[in-house]
Amino acid sequence: MEKIRCGVLGATGMVGQNYIRLLENHPWFEVTYVAASPNSAGKKYSDAVKGRWQMNTKIPAKVANIVVEDANLVSKAIGKCDFVFSAVELDKTATAALEESYAKNDIPVVSNCSAHRMTADVPMLIPEINESHLKMIDAQRKNRGWKKGFIVVKSNCTTQTYIAPIYALEKAGHKIKTMFLTTMQASSGAGYPGVASLDLIDNIVPFIGGEEEKCETEPAKILGKVADGKLTQDSSIKISAHCNRVPVVDGHTVCVSLEFENKNKKPSKEEIIKIWREFSAVPQELNLPMAPKHPIYYTEEDNRPQPRKDRDTDKGMAITVGRLRECKVFDYRFVSLSHNTVRGAAGGGILNAELLKAKGYL
Ligand code: NAP
Repeated sequence: MEKIRCGVLGATGMVGQNYIRLLENHPWFEVTYVAASPNSAGKKYSDAVKGRWQMNTKIPAKVANIVVEDANLVSKAIGKCDFVFSAVELDKTATAALEESYAKNDIPVVSNCSAHRMTADVPMLIPEINESHLKMIDAQRKNRGWKKGFIVVKSNCTTQTYIAPIYALEKAGHKIKTMFLTTMQASSGAGYPGVASLDLIDNIVPFIGGEEEKCETEPAKILGKVADGKLTQDSSIKISAHCNRVPVVDGHTVCVSLEFENKNKKPSKEEIIKIWREFSAVPQELNLPMAPKHPIYYTEEDNRPQPRKDRDTDKGMAITVGRLRECKVFDYRFVSLSHNTVRGAAGGGILNAELLKAKGYL
């Protein structure tokens, strides 16, 4: 099978490097185009990331010699790739404009950036949860007069950490009313070089700009319904989030307390664990290359999940959940963990692209 040519915008950054690593030997996609800021433009990829390659594997030989282009110049990408992954670090307006310029020029954009997450006609895709939102692509093209191009985004990496266990419970008929979250987020979530080591070693930073709002608002869009080319958000879960940066390299941990709408019919602990363990969805049915075998792993050990030990579960694509117990204030409490730069970023983006290909959009 001839591979689909893809580009990576922001290829030199923390998420971009993970794309380059994870796409090496991908059965469907081949990296043929890399772009970053004007500072990196004109350099060979291996020179552009010299001294800041953060991966534990070598730079793939096929990408090392590709000359990095300026991501702001869409003209450079035309003819060199069939779609792009977007992982640039720019302000919201500039990111939105950059991504639109690609879509307008017939280059679909699979984005990790937050700029278009809340744009009404842009689906925020988590293939295990809302494959039906792909229908928004047709509405988006119609609204904007785009023929081949479109923009699809993925959620924030922290939202990604707790939304699948929540969705699995709701899908099984256990509607959730209130959630309280405390996050412990890895330093790689801030990109490279990210938070200065002297600010983070031996420390916790109890503020991550915009993160609490994202954790509280993104679920409504992810869990929303699409009908007649419109996405209606489901804001029925009231969420309160505390977000903290902790001295962990990779892996976001979230402590969740939740209350069910119908307290008299709340599931037992055993039922909840069964729901999580048996949860399976479209990526598993389609056997997508990046899909985890099981989206949610429940661990019985009292002192798990832990970032160092659990973040790589199932290629770093699974969510690991543990410590489910009753709560004296809400109904239950548990701890959820995912790999922020894999499932929460590049791996999640690749899974989105695989679903798009499987459904004929790429
Ligand atoms: P990063 O390590 O700071 O990398 C930023 C990338 O953007 C680099 O490739 C950089 O190129 C490029 N860039 C910077 N200024 C630019 C400009 N003016 N024009 C074009 N490109 C420019 O950040 P990151 O952590 O990879 O995050 C990238 C995006 O993914 C962000 O939008 C972030 O919110 C999102 N995200 C990150 C994570 C995570 O866990 N890190 C998770 C989910 C989503 P140079 O190297 O040339 O400067």
